[in-house]
Amino acid sequence: DPTPPSPTVAAARRVLAEVFGYGAFRGQQQDIVEQVIDGGDALVLMPTGGGKSLCYQIPAIVRHGGGQGVTVVVSPLIALMQDQVGALDEVGVPAAFLNSSLGAQEASAVERDLLAGRLTLLYVAPERLLTPRFLAMMESLHERGLLGLFAIDEAHCVSQWGHDFREEYLGLSALHERFPAVPRIALTATADDHTRADIVERLQLQDARLFVSSFDRPNIRYTIVERDNARTQLLRFIRDEHEGDAGVIYCGSRKKVEETAAWLQDEGVPALPYHAGLDAGTRKYHQDRFLREEGLVMVATIAFGMGIDKPDVRFVAHLDLPKNIEGYYQETGRAGRDGQPADAWMTYGLADVVHQRRMIDDSPAADEFKRVQRGKLDALLALAEAHDCRRVRLLAYFGEASGPCGNCDNCLHPPTTWDSTDAARKALSCIYRFAQHGRETQGPRSFGAVHLIDVLRGKPTDKVGQYGHAGLSTFGIGADLPEAQWRAVLRQLVALGHVVAEGEYGTLALTDAARAVLRGEVRLQMRVPAAPVRGRSKRGRA
Ligand code: ADP
Ligand code: ZN
Repeated sequence: DPTPPSPTVAAARRVLAEVFGYGAFRGQQQDIVEQVIDGGDALVLMPTGGGKSLCYQIPAIVRHGGGQGVTVVVSPLIALMQDQVGALDEVGVPAAFLNSSLGAQEASAVERDLLAGRLTLLYVAPERLLTPRFLAMMESLHERGLLGLFAIDEAHCVSQWGHDFREEYLGLSALHERFPAVPRIALTATADDHTRADIVERLQLQDARLFVSSFDRPNIRYTIVERDNARTQLLRFIRDEHEGDAGVIYCGSRKKVEETAAWLQDEGVPALPYHAGLDAGTRKYHQDRFLREEGLVMVATIAFGMGIDKPDVRFVAHLDLPKNIEGYYQETGRAGRDGQPADAWMTYGLADVVHQRRMIDDSPAADEFKRVQRGKLDALLALAEAHDCRRVRLLAYFGEASGPCGNCDNCLHPPTTWDSTDAARKALSCIYRFAQHGRETQGPRSFGAVHLIDVLRGKPTDKVGQYGHAGLSTFGIGADLPEAQWRAVLRQLVALGHVVAEGEYGTLALTDAARAVLRGEVRLQMRVPAAPVRGRSKRGRA
């Protein structure tokens, strides 16, 4: 490097090497710490595992060393605060936390250290930060020039569009109002435009410098398979590719977590359940075991994960569809934080689409909110239905352009596609005929996927007899396609919003968008459904 570094950068590098033992900054870390040490504001968007902590810990150490006082870190998670303070303790940096896990005596000891200017970093839960007591302490530090920096971790919690919204984060704008001269750094791993704009507005970060890191996690291999028999598929995936590895399996409900963990144990896979319905002791015990022991599989709801820094998680599997791409990205991002090859694997089927749409429709939220949620779900469904590079789509969602990655299912095994337009039209007309026939006969007008497929394939079931559906012009027009392929067609139609599944039984109805397909104005492409699960060869870890 021919030009000598600025004094700020030189100081930061010394801390990086001497305190943390690292030889070089990663990605944008150097520019970020320089901005913040020099007193500027920063908004940092960096993927999980990217190294966000050092972005405020190094400025905290440099500023404290320069007599500029303490860095107050706002963090929503007690477990995370404890980990961070423990790690700082090990490298000899005076740090502490204030949260509900402390007794009164411990808390007042921390407060004494804080007011005496002895702490380099103080981690605080947002609800405590905004108490009159804590605000008064900050005033006192500020008057003496000892309030050095605010770091707002997990800044997306301020956004209602995100999945981790926390009411208390809304109050954090008060920091800037009361202490306008104290620099702030806000950090998050969630990066869609909506959330980003929300963070800037609600935390009044209009003048902050924005640092957007690449969200690519090249060592993670993305795979999304059509659900055939989820358990068989999962077991095959684990046995073929991750025998003895640590992994996380996300399920959509507590019940499914329990059942899946028990079943995996029966199959000889060392699995533990984790969800918010377990008592705190069990949760902590399972979490500790997962972190300490090797090769455990955690079966969990999304209650598990935020702030869990286990570097060697080799796979993250989803048995149910997450709510949106941010959720999918964050959850899968817990795999391979050590940079070694890891898998993000998901099964997905018609039931997921129906379920997620219904969750949004039935929620008591405002229409505007539901509209945004539907848009986010559609983006995730498009990712799931994609037959081109998953990573290109994932990164595009976060505003990043890229080329085919060579490390996702679609790149590695390009799927054959077929023109599903005719099949889609047959299914749509059959749904249309059901309604028409129902009106004429004063019978039910809509039916679920199973019956629709029976009618399309011309199966003379009891239900077909009962409703006289053998007489429909669409009876048997789809006998040429196997049942699994029809399920895929319906899933695509629901995913694309041409059909909605309504009510308790998921009966199918056409949307306005279906017309364009019926009229032949839109053509549809689908991947040829995978053959039923069979053995896959063990693949090397390149
Ligand atoms: P994030 O909070 O963005 O998920 P962390 O701050 O936990 O990420 O960092 C992830 C891992 O990377 C940690 O183990 C951390 O010590 C390591 N790390 C961060 N920056 C560097 C660096 N410049 N050099 C080497 N390792 C780093
Ligand atoms: Zn790819």
